[in-house]
Amino acid sequence: MKKETLALHAGYTKDEQKTMAVPIYMSTAYAFDSAEHAANLFALKELGNIYTRIGNPTTDVFEKRFAALEGGEAALATASGMAAITYSVLNLCEAGDNIVAANQLYGGTVTLFTHTLKRLGIEARMFDVHKPEQLEDLLDEKTKLIFFESITNPSIDVPDFEAIVAIANKYGIITIVDNTVATPMLCSPLELGVDVVVHSTSKYTTGQGLALGGIIVEGRSAKEKLLDKSRYPHFNEPDASYHGLIYNETPFPPFILRARLSLLRDMGAAPSPFNSWLFIQGLEHLSLRIKQHSQSALAIAKWLASHPKVKKVNYPLLEGDKNYKNAKKYLKGGASGLLSFEVDSFEEAKKIADSVKIFSRVVNIGDSKSIITHPASTTHQQLSAEELELAGVSEGLIRLSIGLEAVEDLIADLEQAMS
Ligand SMILES: *Cc1c(COP(=O)(O)O)cnc(C)c1O
Repeated sequence: MKKETLALHAGYTKDEQKTMAVPIYMSTAYAFDSAEHAANLFALKELGNIYTRIGNPTTDVFEKRFAALEGGEAALATASGMAAITYSVLNLCEAGDNIVAANQLYGGTVTLFTHTLKRLGIEARMFDVHKPEQLEDLLDEKTKLIFFESITNPSIDVPDFEAIVAIANKYGIITIVDNTVATPMLCSPLELGVDVVVHSTSKYTTGQGLALGGIIVEGRSAKEKLLDKSRYPHFNEPDASYHGLIYNETPFPPFILRARLSLLRDMGAAPSPFNSWLFIQGLEHLSLRIKQHSQSALAIAKWLASHPKVKKVNYPLLEGDKNYKNAKKYLKGGASGLLSFEVDSFEEAKKIADSVKIFSRVVNIGDSKSIITHPASTTHQQLSAEELELAGVSEGLIRLSIGLEAVEDLIADLEQAMS
């Protein structure tokens, strides 16, 4: 089935109440029929609900639906995108290991990788997504994963999937892609050979800025790599914390099974069932929304490119953009709603951000309402001019997240703000 159809139907079987909408099961715990029933559930001999930290029926529909959209084997929803990223990394690493990650990443992911993981003894080595050849020198026997974003936030780059995946496969290293900005509707990392996909569902999935959430999806190819006993011992040796379970020896997709039974159990960033329900609502019309976000963003990118005050526009599907070739190859039906542009100075950019009337000044993306951010005076305020340069953020850079308002109104708003 096509994604538009899966987004409405996958993962939900109507119960005896026959509700068309997926019910919200607001419950912390679930009753067992007998002590034996409970024992079977804990031993995975029977599948069923135990406690909402480990699983919930509403969240289960959301996980199955999202896994279907990504073409994956199983999924695990978390309380936020950062929790999904953290668990996807901790599922493979321990102190003494290293990960290799793109330079061009979401800010929270950068601080997680370079500060928080460092304190846990996990080293992050960075590469430029436009220079995948750098990877060869960074990988060794302690490298557990390669992490990158399908459309990078905030730099708006589209990596060369083929080159990165080829090197990862040569060494049998798991690849993890953050597909938040592209969404499963525009990019299918698992089809491109990636092993695990993560998302912040706080963005385009809810679509209206309603709730925080994240999700991890395991692709079919993950297990083959996890069978490597020396690189991934935790999947091949008995887990003493789960009565000697060997994750690779169960019939379940091992990456998600371990993330759920070990990490979610012990660290607990489980989603609220209500938030899972909101994400299910969001998925129903994601295919339509993302088309409109992409169409309006491209129209605005073209308009900006011909504006006399604009030095440069970054949008992957704008002809001449350095990501154009990769965007054409790896994105289907659009490049999503993020774009950025540069004007002459800090003051000029700040004036534009202060003068818009429809765009909101917010540090979020993927809302139905359009958003403007001037990184140099907000998110990147603490950085010096040289540090801004290194981060790829010029003082006159403005980032836009294009919403679902009429594109004529958005252009008129920018025009008056830039006059
Ligand atoms: C927002 C975002 C995250 C973090 O997600 P939260 O839900 O805010 O924790 C991770 N990656 C990308 C690309 C994002 O845009």
